[in-house]
Amino acid sequence: MDVLVIGAGVVGLTTAVCLAEGGLEVGVVAAEPPRRTTSMVAGAMIGGPVFTEPMDSAVWWQRTSLAEFTALAADPDTGVRVARGRLVSRIGEQPPPWAADLPGYRPCEPDEHAGFPVAFWISSPLVDMPRYLGYLELRLLAAGTRVEVREVTSLGGAPVVVNCSGLGARELAGDPEVRPVRGQHVIVSNPGIEDFFFEGGFESEWTSFMPHEERVVLGGNASDGDWNDQPDPRQTQEILDRCAAVEPRLAEARVLGVEVGLRPGRPSIRLEEEQVHGTRVIHCYGHGGVGVSMSWGCARDIAARLL
Ligand SMILES: Cc1cc2nc3c(=O)[nH]c(=O)nc-3n(C[C@H](O)[C@H](O)[C@H](O)COP(=O)(O)OP(=O)(O)OC[C@H]3O[C@@H](n4cnc5c(N)ncnc54)[C@H](O)[C@@H]3O)c2cc1C
Repeated sequence: MDVLVIGAGVVGLTTAVCLAEGGLEVGVVAAEPPRRTTSMVAGAMIGGPVFTEPMDSAVWWQRTSLAEFTALAADPDTGVRVARGRLVSRIGEQPPPWAADLPGYRPCEPDEHAGFPVAFWISSPLVDMPRYLGYLELRLLAAGTRVEVREVTSLGGAPVVVNCSGLGARELAGDPEVRPVRGQHVIVSNPGIEDFFFEGGFESEWTSFMPHEERVVLGGNASDGDWNDQPDPRQTQEILDRCAAVEPRLAEARVLGVEVGLRPGRPSIRLEEEQVHGTRVIHCYGHGGVGVSMSWGCARDIAARLL
């Protein structure tokens, strides 16, 4: 084996795909299989502004990812499609200056504001994570690698180890800067919604919905330092109420499930190398609320170092 990838969330799987398709012999180990990761819970929207550190690299990672996801949207089996949707905010009066650079930008008409002073349309890839993670696993299999479910306690086992352990890096890499940022989603049957909706402004609670064929993912919230991975019924009702206030069709939608994910928060994404007892380790974790958006860029960055 040339490279061992630790982690089978969106970051680990994408990295493993890039390395295996590049001709390396790759192993993947993960304490939890893809369907039980934080990545499975994500919405997931790809576009939007970049506020993530390290800013220079993050802009490139997101731009690279945006191009890859846009290309993947041509194949319906990937679970990716390019959708239009509204970005809104209760802060400010005008769309921010960066908005006009986003694909598909146009200010909302007065009757499209849904009560928010700032509202504009963009287009962005939307990723149906259960289907997309399944697609990545199949693509990995086609390149000769499957996920081995096993927890590791140290960074070794191959000449090169890529550490994509998300929140697990807190222990595995001994990094106290990694912390959970809890989020809850409510999944409902889709009453015919095609456009997404996302309220920005970085508060602890907001309104968002992402339609994927037969289901809609409703959010959202963020609770820093919260390890509770169980659904909170009060939050479920609040999410349903906020979303129904924007899109009345959601008031009648059947609740299919409630999902909780612990985002791997960190002040800055860590993509860097170190030698650990003679092993070349490339860390790639701490993606917070943008791991899907950064996944292809980070994976291509790692591939460029190893291929
Ligand atoms: C509610 C919610 C909404 C979100 N919406 C979006 C969105 O719209 N757009 C976006 O880009 N992002 C979004 N995110 C963020 C995104 O989900 C994360 O940034 C992303 O999933 C992180 O991926 P990851 O592969 O690093 O980690 P994870 O998906 O957590 O995977 C980590 C992997 O490492 C394994 N692991 C950990 N420790 C060990 C160990 N010791 N040994 C072996 N394996 C180990 C785990 O088992 C797992 O397989 C959202 C997150 C939440 C919770």
